Amino acid sequence: MSQYQKPPELYEGLRLHQNENTGGCSPRVIEALARLRPEQIGFYPPYAAATDAVAAYLGVAPDRITLTNGLDEGIMAAAVAYLRAEVGGPRLEAIVPEPAFEIFRFDTAVAGGALVQVMPRADFVFPLDEVLAAITPNTRLVFLTNPNNPTGVAMPMDAIRAIARRVPAGAIVFVDEAYAEFSGESFIPELDAYPNVIVGRTFSKAFGLAGLRIGCVVGEPSTVDPIRRAVPVYSVSIAAVAAIQAALQDLDHLRDYLRQVIESKAMLYAACDQLGLSYWKSRSNFVLVCAGDRTDALVKGAFARGVYLRDRSTEPGCAGCLRIATGIVEHTRRAIAVMEEVLCAAR
Ligand code: PMP
Repeated sequence: MSQYQKPPELYEGLRLHQNENTGGCSPRVIEALARLRPEQIGFYPPYAAATDAVAAYLGVAPDRITLTNGLDEGIMAAAVAYLRAEVGGPRLEAIVPEPAFEIFRFDTAVAGGALVQVMPRADFVFPLDEVLAAITPNTRLVFLTNPNNPTGVAMPMDAIRAIARRVPAGAIVFVDEAYAEFSGESFIPELDAYPNVIVGRTFSKAFGLAGLRIGCVVGEPSTVDPIRRAVPVYSVSIAAVAAIQAALQDLDHLRDYLRQVIESKAMLYAACDQLGLSYWKSRSNFVLVCAGDRTDALVKGAFARGVYLRDRSTEPGCAGCLRIATGIVEHTRRAIAVMEEVLCAAR
């Protein structure tokens, strides 16, 4: 089984390669962490108050939510819960429209499931017919991401509904909304109508909490329950519990970041137009840029100048593409200056 190639641990330069909030979390989070008392760290953490806060933020009842150690854990738990085969039974299938977050592939393999990849259409128009055609009686999971990573492109909500109506009984549609704050669109209000859909959320990106590891899965209690059972009982730390409550009390910090993301994307689009690079308009906090045969030189040249970009050229449909986080305006400005320098030097 091939395994996830974790990006190297680079922290000296400007990290624009993992879609993180490079401005970091709200100062209120740091205050909340500093207020933690020794006995709180000595005890296993309570989850009720943090779950209530997340439920209020997402506009759902707390019984629809399971907090997880990052959305990564929610994805792994969903794979384990829904893809493990019965002894002597057929291998259960996970459908992944590509290009997608690579973790879906690896978690499917870990859970013993069979991966059914649906290859992208030109320009990443969502391949609904192909996904529907890939559904079989053994389908148990369909991984969707809205907006998608690495493309930044949103998928039609109607496609989610159509897939949810078509999957066999006992299967779930997992809608990864890691970047939903940036698109402003969520399937959560429809979960009552579509009880076989699970929405995954993270506080790593828009809230800048990636280092503390907190996310959640949301859905109808009977659909979430198997996932909850696959999550270790105390996987979310007291630091993450304190942090999320503080972060959700400072939505101004979130709004400021969202505003900067919009400005950063406009700046990067303009720079790409000038540099003759194509790109996909993104609903997220990053942009997939096509630099063709200049991709390798661009990523390496930026790296040498202390700016980390992510080469995505080996992902399906992404030949010649790299991904750049577009968050804090000052950081985007630096990235653009470096891109200009590298490309002009290569001329
Ligand atoms: N889903 C997608 C689409 C992502 O891009 C990421 C982070 N790269 C995750 C899930 C995982 O997020 P977390 O940090 O909450 O584990």
